[in-house]
Amino acid sequence: MSQQQISDTKQYIFSGILIAISILGSDYLGFYFLFKDYVDMSPLLIFLTGALTLGSSLSILRFLSQITNENVEPIYSKWRVVGQVSAGISLAGIPYIVLISFIDFEGFAALSNQNLNFLLPFIFVVISNLILMLVPDLFGESLLSKQSESSLSLFNHNPDSVFWVALDGEIVNVNKEAEKLTGFSKEKLLGIHFNDLLIEKIDDKLVSDYFQRVLIGKTAIIETKYIPKNGIELDIRITAVRIIVKNNVIGAYGIVRDITKEKKAVDTIKHLAYSDDLTGLPNKRKLEGEIHSLIKKNTGFALMYIDFDRFKRINDTFGHFFGDKVINHIAKRLTSCVERDFIIARMGGDEFSILVPTTYSVSEVAERIGESFRRPLMINGYEFLLTASIGISRFPQDSNNLVDLMKDADIAMYEAKKSGTDTYKIYNREMVKQKVNKLELENDLRKAIRKEELSVYYQPKYNIRMNEICGSEALVRWEHPTYGFVSPAVFIPIAEEAHLIVELERAVIKEVFKTIQTWKQNFLPTPRTSINISVLHFYQEDFLEFIEKSLDEFGVLGRNIEIEVTESIMVNSENEINSDIQRLRDLGIEISIDDFGTGYSSLGYLQQLSIDRLKIDKSFISNSFANREIVSTIISMAKNLNLDVIAEGVETQEHIDLLSELGCEEAQGFFYSPAIPKDKYEILIAQQTAGLKSHL
Ligand code: C2E
Ligand code: CA
Ligand code: CA
Repeated sequence: MSQQQISDTKQYIFSGILIAISILGSDYLGFYFLFKDYVDMSPLLIFLTGALTLGSSLSILRFLSQITNENVEPIYSKWRVVGQVSAGISLAGIPYIVLISFIDFEGFAALSNQNLNFLLPFIFVVISNLILMLVPDLFGESLLSKQSESSLSLFNHNPDSVFWVALDGEIVNVNKEAEKLTGFSKEKLLGIHFNDLLIEKIDDKLVSDYFQRVLIGKTAIIETKYIPKNGIELDIRITAVRIIVKNNVIGAYGIVRDITKEKKAVDTIKHLAYSDDLTGLPNKRKLEGEIHSLIKKNTGFALMYIDFDRFKRINDTFGHFFGDKVINHIAKRLTSCVERDFIIARMGGDEFSILVPTTYSVSEVAERIGESFRRPLMINGYEFLLTASIGISRFPQDSNNLVDLMKDADIAMYEAKKSGTDTYKIYNREMVKQKVNKLELENDLRKAIRKEELSVYYQPKYNIRMNEICGSEALVRWEHPTYGFVSPAVFIPIAEEAHLIVELERAVIKEVFKTIQTWKQNFLPTPRTSINISVLHFYQEDFLEFIEKSLDEFGVLGRNIEIEVTESIMVNSENEINSDIQRLRDLGIEISIDDFGTGYSSLGYLQQLSIDRLKIDKSFISNSFANREIVSTIISMAKNLNLDVIAEGVETQEHIDLLSELGCEEAQGFFYSPAIPKDKYEILIAQQTAGLKSHL
């Protein structure tokens, strides 16, 4: 019975009584059979014997249950010996008192009248019981706590660090692992408060609160950080259980596991699954998860969808490896525009998304991003100007689910792209709800080209000083049967990707040539018309042949035509292309560099290529106040190289004033006229010629 865990007083008393009864029972029975002729019971003494035996059994039981613990500290062993001797005396005394209480020895009573020696065994037992009662208390409270054998092995054989903490937070004991974890010896650890182990920066309130919760019986696991003596921060997991001895909570075991490695592995996996390889930013999956949880919590936010207008060209010109570099630069610049509580994700390609909490003005953020991309990116010595088009949708105003929010932001993004100058658009219901499906558009576009459904508009170019038309730019138009007019800013990139661009441009070339032919037939003046040609088209072996044949076919002269090509042509200025350009110029066709200033505008390239004109990109003009330096540099650079220069995207009188002040002679833009259908343009030039005639 003493081996058994004694959990409460009832069990303790019951066990004691049982032991006492068995001792008394066997003693009385034994003596009865030996001395049954001499039995002479004395009720008083029998009662005394019973009480004393019960006292002994209770005391011994209590003592035994204490010393059977495996880890009694050596300092207590002298008390253990005292206890053992007392237990022996006490047990040895019991048969004597039993005998005396119920056997009458001849003459013993007479003798006992004068002499009280017969009470000696009783005194023995009483004294030894008294000592036995005291011994456990002399072991002290801490020994009492060591009662639970299981908790001791939990302590010593535990692969984790175990801290035994008293109610007041003081560390009472630690195991070897705890010494290893903390870097402090056991002597140093004992007696200090566990809070003292948690050096600054670590959330000691978390741990204290947790300790209090554990003491009231709530076991749980917490994870926190810990800095051991060596200063290298660890992630730890604490599992604490309170220690209850005889119904009293006397403290808690804190089992501490170093989970730094485990955590790292989990973090890496998470990171891999939720981040973009190239930029390290969160990926689409992560963003979608965040959106889902915000929607669930009904927390408002704005979703920005960002696409860069000229990225495709860079990729085609410089290759993917370089394109990746550009993406990384974009990611860095975008990151510099956002606050810490935004989530910025790469959705793939050159598309990014940003989640903006409603506590921020999303328009301000969009403006900030647009502004930051007005400065060129510097990569490998090249300068690039990329224009961000941003579409914004909001939860819950615009939509209440992920798919629609994404769609709305995408639609708004296309609207921004279409507008040409606006960096961003916030979704509204007037925008076509149908998401422009790239694949569908591609198919429709292919059909439209073949069925000759594309038309060409003309945007007049003006001589600023004379205020008269000096030419026009042919711009392709496509009226989609369901979407209406689709912007070339949307479908030209699709045409490039789908290898439809050559076919498209040849259709435009033919249409323009045919138009010029009719002008000539009608005796209208034919100021130079420029046509946009993509670099890809220049790689087409029969490009020159096609131009020559078409000029012939429609009776058009080279000097009626100008070709606008982007700066990327300069980088790829292999001899072949250069000689093509030369042959075009020999035909009288002028070559101008479109969107000048938006990429790789290295002077060296300009000198290598023989061209006629630079076309300052509209992004510089629309913001010409801030970009005055750039505009003025381009103009003087052009003059130095003996090139003509034209500004596009001219919208206001201020733009005109600045350009004429800087010496730019030609301009094109909404200030004068948007791109207009052929017949309207014809009226304009006819009017101008009439005006000139009447003037004369
Ligand atoms: P781009 O060559 O830079 O053409 C100028 C664009 O700016 C035209 O847009 C024109 O309508 C617009 N624009 C003109 N004045 C202003 C102004 O004052 N403010 C603003 N914000 N915009 C103005 P569009 O017609 O939408 O064409 C977009 C782009 O599509 C063109 O940009 C060009 O790169 C491409 N594109 C158009 N037609 C053709 C074509 O036949 N072949 C090729 N390869 N590309 C074409
Ligand atoms: Ca152009
Ligand atoms: Ca342009």
